[in-house]
Amino acid sequence: MIDQNSIGRCNICGGTEFGKGFQGRLSSTGRLPACLTCKATERHRIVFSVYSHLRGYLRDKRALQFAPEGVLKKEWFKEYDYSAYGRHNSYDMMNIPLPDGAFDLVVSNHVIEHVADDARALAECLRVAGKSGVVHVMAPSPTYRYTTEDWGFADPARNEHYRDYGADMGRDLCRRTPGSHCVGVVGIDPTTLAPDIIFFFSRNEESLRQITAPLIRQQFGCVVVA
Ligand SMILES: [Zn+2]
Repeated sequence: MIDQNSIGRCNICGGTEFGKGFQGRLSSTGRLPACLTCKATERHRIVFSVYSHLRGYLRDKRALQFAPEGVLKKEWFKEYDYSAYGRHNSYDMMNIPLPDGAFDLVVSNHVIEHVADDARALAECLRVAGKSGVVHVMAPSPTYRYTTEDWGFADPARNEHYRDYGADMGRDLCRRTPGSHCVGVVGIDPTTLAPDIIFFFSRNEESLRQITAPLIRQQFGCVVVA
């Protein structure tokens, strides 16, 4: 859902001036993506928009975030910790040194495309999120192609990514991670009107029903993927 009052304004900081993104990038809609005030781009504003409707859900959740970008605030959660490469809890997503069920929600935005074995990373995040926990994954850019292309190495010419995800991302990861379920939540960036998808994974389908219930009420596009 788009808040009509926020079109042309950054929904995170209220800024109204925008510039090009990383490496001179324009949004898929041709608009300028980067807020000149808070540096947010499309995906940050979409995450902020989605999570602004999840505050009640988050209040009793323990969250772990990989590579935080400052959008999620620790006061939204019962507990919040993060892993930042080389700085704090520098965890390997394919081998997370935490017990089963240490958190309720594991969040990563634009991390999994840098990981050699993404299904193993998802399985690890699901393990840390426990039997009823939820794993949030965003990656570039499943709305732009149908099928994931994985070239099998961190390509320096492609921002060290192992793959470009397609619209099959959630289904493909679930197929390779037995016992997992997935729902995709489509958000529209209020500034550029570009879409993006947050995939929520869980071992427990009821947990996906709970996290999407407030979003469905707000008319976000929620699609059961697997
Ligand atoms: Zn901003």
